[in-house]
Amino acid sequence: MRSLIKNQALIQQGSFINGQFVSTNYHFEVTNPAKNVTLIQVAEVDAKQLNQAVESSSLAQKSWQNVPAQEKARILRRWLTLLEENHDDLATIMSLEQGKTLADAKAEIAYGNSFVEWFSEEAKRIYGDTVSAPAADKRITVIKQPVGVVGAITPWNFPNAMITRKAAAAFAAGCSFIVKPAAETPLSALAIAYLAQQAGLPDGLFNVVVGENAQVIGEVLTTHPLINKFTFTGSTRVGKLLTAQCANTVKRVSMELGGNAPFIVFDDADLEVAINALMANKFRNCGQTCISANRIYVHESVYQQFSQMLVERVSELKQGDGLEPTNNIGCLIHHQAAKHVHQLVAGAIEQGAKVQIGGLPTAPENAFYPPTVLTNVSHGDAITQAEIFGPVLALIAFDDDDTVLAQANDTDYGLACYFFTQQLKRVNRFSEQLDYGMVGINDAVISNAAAPFGGVKQSGYGREGSKYGLDDFLDVKYLCHGAL
Ligand code: NAP
Repeated sequence: MRSLIKNQALIQQGSFINGQFVSTNYHFEVTNPAKNVTLIQVAEVDAKQLNQAVESSSLAQKSWQNVPAQEKARILRRWLTLLEENHDDLATIMSLEQGKTLADAKAEIAYGNSFVEWFSEEAKRIYGDTVSAPAADKRITVIKQPVGVVGAITPWNFPNAMITRKAAAAFAAGCSFIVKPAAETPLSALAIAYLAQQAGLPDGLFNVVVGENAQVIGEVLTTHPLINKFTFTGSTRVGKLLTAQCANTVKRVSMELGGNAPFIVFDDADLEVAINALMANKFRNCGQTCISANRIYVHESVYQQFSQMLVERVSELKQGDGLEPTNNIGCLIHHQAAKHVHQLVAGAIEQGAKVQIGGLPTAPENAFYPPTVLTNVSHGDAITQAEIFGPVLALIAFDDDDTVLAQANDTDYGLACYFFTQQLKRVNRFSEQLDYGMVGINDAVISNAAAPFGGVKQSGYGREGSKYGLDDFLDVKYLCHGAL
């Protein structure tokens, strides 16, 4: 892989602790899922290094909290500049280790950078309050202070942005940050940490601990007494486990978990707008996004027209190695993920679904699964209950508003949902009654740094990005001034 990267310092093969890349005797492989070949060996973090990561993070945080906001902002801006200057290399590294197309990788890096930019500005805007006191000789002041050391675990589907969205906010708030990236995608995390150091972020403030043994690393990040807050992005199953682990030391916790997004097309929708939004939402990153439309409810009066238009658009997609610029859809994260998607599709067919395009006659032999459209799916079929996490659209017909509202809310998840209509009354009703943290109204490309990202129900709690994104990294302190 080295021959494809201009800035060789971006390729690192061990954890980044207290400003240094470190090694151990045990290595794990990082592979390219498109070609199923090993890219590089990376050293697994050991127990001693994990402890050093936490201790150096704690020390660094104590100084960082006293650095003036303007200086914090300047360092974050320098980090942004370096991330931008290394954009192409970072995209190539990501495409190689994750399998997404270069275009998707570049878009993710621009998205990830937007949080560094946003929080470089927010660093200067941490406000407190003065509050009317109940007695003439008292004054009440409220200040906000950094929570301290932040532990984080992130997934492989967005190896850059799921880190910058947390880390930039943590640094802006005055916290330090230790992250364990997914074992599939450690290289992107190590590269961005290297650039943060080059930008002048003090040693120890941004530590990256890499390894295949997620349980061991996770145990330290969720139970170490020096870690004050834990933030996780990943599946609901693992999120529940890690939340429980945090209980013993009563850490501040925030969780960005899985979703099962409904996408509703009403009879009065602009179908062209809805299809464009669905194509952009669903096939980005080969369907492996937490806000990916998972269940497509289409009013029966436009169902046939909508499915025909959709199949036509899906037939134009070109799938293959993400590094090849003419491909606009890459592969899944690994062979096992493709098999999982195949099983969901096979199960849907058994329950009566019809394949309009895509699908595979037998189980896949590699990480590729073709873009697929299924019609004749019913609400409640297994494929509508699981997070598909692949390029498969399951179309369900509906005939009235009450039913589709109940079906859309009929899930434990509550991350993102979308609906398409021209009717103001419907816009109001569905905006308020859909039980989700994020609602796309005639839109399904909703993520940006200015907006609060996060879910309700079993999709988690806490918000990332936006003016709310700092709250999870700040403690509120009440000062009571007496005898005045
Ligand atoms: P995952 O299996 O939950 O893994 C996420 C992270 O948790 C990885 O770093 C993984 O490490 C680690 N992990 C797994 N088991 C662990 C354990 N027992 N202890 C400590 N750490 C553990 O999820 P995924 O398959 O990577 O990611 C897909 C999921 O993330 C989907 O459900 C998706 O919806 C969700 N997601 C949510 C958001 C959001 O903002 N709400 C954004 C992106 C993704 P290893 O990789 O090393 O095993």
